[in-house]
Amino acid sequence: MKPRIAIDAGHGGTDHGCDGHGLIESVLTLPLAKDVVSRLANSAAVEPLLLRIDDSRIELHERAAIANREGCDAVVSLHFDSAAPDRDWTAVYWHRGDTCGQALARKIQVEVEAAGRRCRAYCTDFLVMSPDRGREPGFPRALVLTDCYWRDGLPTCLVEGGFLTSAADCRWLEEHGLDVLATAIVAGVEAWAGKDRR
Ligand SMILES: [Zn+2]
Repeated sequence: MKPRIAIDAGHGGTDHGCDGHGLIESVLTLPLAKDVVSRLANSAAVEPLLLRIDDSRIELHERAAIANREGCDAVVSLHFDSAAPDRDWTAVYWHRGDTCGQALARKIQVEVEAAGRRCRAYCTDFLVMSPDRGREPGFPRALVLTDCYWRDGLPTCLVEGGFLTSAADCRWLEEHGLDVLATAIVAGVEAWAGKDRR
């Protein structure tokens, strides 16, 4: 049987996520998710599920509940990031212990890099040393996003497509970045579904 994969368009409704240079996160994630799902619709390798179908707000725990109810084997959660203006790359994340999510993230990373775009890969509870607080998660927001699925037993790859705080990334997204991301995510998901899923 083909594995079922949920494609989660991050944010939505009154939750817009981050924004920058005229772009809004929730407005980018929905068409990207729809594009990925439509390209996977006839895939021999996977069966896709569009987790958010319109501009509505769905809480994180509800997203996990929908994916589980629909019998999904894994989730690709689509987001865009904000940080210092000189950061401009794609990043993939998985939760510690989620070897399936890690395999999925690595396959997507390979495809993004093959398209000539820098892509970093991280475990979300990667710890950093803070001068006043001691060891703390280096990616607190990414940790929340992978944790909501992983806690419910769903392997997850979080894709942060680019930084809306970066003028270069926003230009790239407006030109052909969304298409590059969709192509890479589709190829990565199909490669992951074919073998080495754990
Ligand atoms: Zn986000």
